[in-house]
Amino acid sequence: MKPPILFIVIPCYNEQEALPITAKRLTELTDDMIARSIIAPESRIVLVDDGSRDATWSVITSLHGADARFEGVKLAHNAGHMNALWAGMTLSAERCDCVITIDADLQDDVNAMYGFLEAFQKGADVVSGVRASRKTDTWFKRTTAQGFYKVMGKLGVEMVYNHADYRLLSKRALEALLSFGEVNMFLRGMVPMLGFKTAQVTYERGARVAGESKYPLKKMIAFAMEGITSLSNKPIRYVLLLGALCALLGMAMAIYVIISLVRGHTVAGWASLMMSVWLLGGLQLMALGLIGEYVGKIYMETKRRPKFILEEHLK
Ligand code: UDP
Ligand code: MG
Repeated sequence: MKPPILFIVIPCYNEQEALPITAKRLTELTDDMIARSIIAPESRIVLVDDGSRDATWSVITSLHGADARFEGVKLAHNAGHMNALWAGMTLSAERCDCVITIDADLQDDVNAMYGFLEAFQKGADVVSGVRASRKTDTWFKRTTAQGFYKVMGKLGVEMVYNHADYRLLSKRALEALLSFGEVNMFLRGMVPMLGFKTAQVTYERGARVAGESKYPLKKMIAFAMEGITSLSNKPIRYVLLLGALCALLGMAMAIYVIISLVRGHTVAGWASLMMSVWLLGGLQLMALGLIGEYVGKIYMETKRRPKFILEEHLK
């Protein structure tokens, strides 16, 4: 059987320190895979510059100049991790047999790709890389990330535990994924919806090869919110439930008030009144905020905006 054409897609945002190291490791890796007929020589490494503000694009340009295996994609602005991945996958889909997505910092073990391709050869359409442990992550990152997976599970979103966006997709899985029209996307939750034959490969997660994390707390929170609100509508149900509870409480309150009225103790109503005003006001605001979140999403979806805008494609 002919070895498959593999496209490795890498989102890069301000990765000038990590990229040269990453590129070197991936060159060695793909050299070896080509020599051992695991992948075809037409395989490519697609570096997607997600609107970096440092020298990332010039690093990519020189890599492309030196070795045709490297392709460069430059997005016109910082579209975000998911959109950068989407851009790379969209531009690879037609020419590859399978695609692997991996972060530019090589925290995910590249050698797991041998396992990915083996599973692919055995017929898997989706192969997820799963972290054996998170020893190299900070305590904060580890706890928040694990909490997030738990919450998502409770909200009924199917996700692979401790799996990030390090995965292999066959051509048909990729095409199916790319046919999703949604603008708000959370790949980790979308891939399990494809339902193709899946496999998992476990590896140890290392530290960043160079540079620092491009995911500050603000982006992490935005990412988690995106994951929850774009895949689950359970939060809105909880709000409904909370509203119903409040209404019940209000009724009990009304009965109490009427009894007090009949008994003639109507002077000291101030405390309970203030309390209800504050309580209800707060709850209403909360509910409104959450509804607003969904309305905002509907608004974004109806715009049907492109997920990325291509500036340049070196191939
Ligand atoms: N990234 C991106 N756009 C962004 C933020 C990050 O393309 O706006 C890329 C980044 O270059 C890296 C990957 O997403 O390849 C994951 O980022 P990072 O390693 O900083 O996240 P962490 O591992 O700390 O969660
Ligand atoms: Mg990282």
